[in-house]
Amino acid sequence: MSHMLPFTDPRSAEGRNPKTMVSGRGCHVTDTEGNEYLDAVAGLWCASLGFSNERLVEAASKQLSTLPYYHSFLGRTAAVTDALARKLTEKLPVGMTKIFFGSSGSEAVDTAVKLTHFYQNARGKPEKKRVVARQGAYHGSGALSAGLTGLDYCHIGFDLPGAMVLRTGRPHYFGDAEPGESETAFSRRRARELDALIVEAGPESVAAFIGEPVMGSGGVVPPPDGYWEAVQEVLARHDVLLIADEVITGFGRTGSWFASQRYGLRPAMLTMAKQMTGAYFPMSALALESNVAEVIEKHAHELGTLGHGFTYGGHPVGAAVALEAVRIYEEMDLPNHVADRSNALNAALAPIKANPRVGNVRVIGLMAGVELVDGRDPATKLARRVADEAERRGVLFRVIGPILGISPPYVVSDAEVELIGRTLVESLDAAVRAEGY
Ligand code: PMP
Repeated sequence: MSHMLPFTDPRSAEGRNPKTMVSGRGCHVTDTEGNEYLDAVAGLWCASLGFSNERLVEAASKQLSTLPYYHSFLGRTAAVTDALARKLTEKLPVGMTKIFFGSSGSEAVDTAVKLTHFYQNARGKPEKKRVVARQGAYHGSGALSAGLTGLDYCHIGFDLPGAMVLRTGRPHYFGDAEPGESETAFSRRRARELDALIVEAGPESVAAFIGEPVMGSGGVVPPPDGYWEAVQEVLARHDVLLIADEVITGFGRTGSWFASQRYGLRPAMLTMAKQMTGAYFPMSALALESNVAEVIEKHAHELGTLGHGFTYGGHPVGAAVALEAVRIYEEMDLPNHVADRSNALNAALAPIKANPRVGNVRVIGLMAGVELVDGRDPATKLARRVADEAERRGVLFRVIGPILGISPPYVVSDAEVELIGRTLVESLDAAVRAEGY
């Protein structure tokens, strides 16, 4: 095979060809064999409007025939990209007034780190450079963002994470709380650990903390009660910036336009991608809080330029698609629409809670995690088997260790949500039988 596949065991890919998709309709995709699948994860948490939205296709096509490419370097830009920047500031948390575009989530995260460093240099704090990230986090595959990611398989063999990164505990209450520990007490413990980490490293060396408001690729982990409040108190005390990584959660995934609004985060920087274009075009952005942006722009002016950018950042076709996606989200009354679909998903996942192999079910907007257990241990092999059984039944889930990840397109119907729940129940029963429990 000439195609080197990301996050895939190359040997197993040699043995059995990867499942190769050729077309999509609604929430379904079809492979080369003609098998159709309900994609319960919207690809990689991103195809929020399904796989056949005509308006997004039309927006892309119109832009392709008007101005198919322009950049935003050297004092030039494209009108549509500029219009998108303005539109985004209307939807973002109050005070986030500047937008820097990229093409991928990793680029947005790398931009956040570089601009954090630039900002600290501008403030005359060149020693304040380290970034705290959490175990289980996913922040991308770039040289900086992969280091911030808190998953061993992204580091081993790559000489990562590197000295810039400080690691703190994940906010996974179900997985990591002590017996009898309340959510609030667990949140306070995580905040104390963060405080101790920063104090030990020396607050003068710590520039920023990066976190997904709800963890995605680390297992769909919502913040336990009081978590962000406690964390932000520690960050403010040590003059450490908050970077909210909203690459998955931005544009309604958790029920509000941005999860920072839902959970009361006051980030200095915020990354977005994925649902921004419904994944019809690779595009990302970093939003900056106005005071931070002002310091950065003043310093760039002193230096004569902001020496950072990507050829395809803010691509006009992506911008046109994103503007149309935002229009569609507005028309669907995004927060209410997601709340309604979330209730349906919750109801569809209720029956699986009765299975003793299910330790925890978490539904946040249109993200869900079903965590499987083996007594008190995580049931990782079983989860893989459940996903295989579900695939055979025509539904695609994401396996994250012992967790089955779910994040369907926002356009998922009642019947499709029910199918997701029913398939999960049947697949778990079949997997348990096959494993001989
Ligand atoms: N941050 C988060 C929270 C993500 O979930 C991802 C991708 N899953 C990224 C960053 C990286 O995005 P990309 O793959 O577009 O580079």
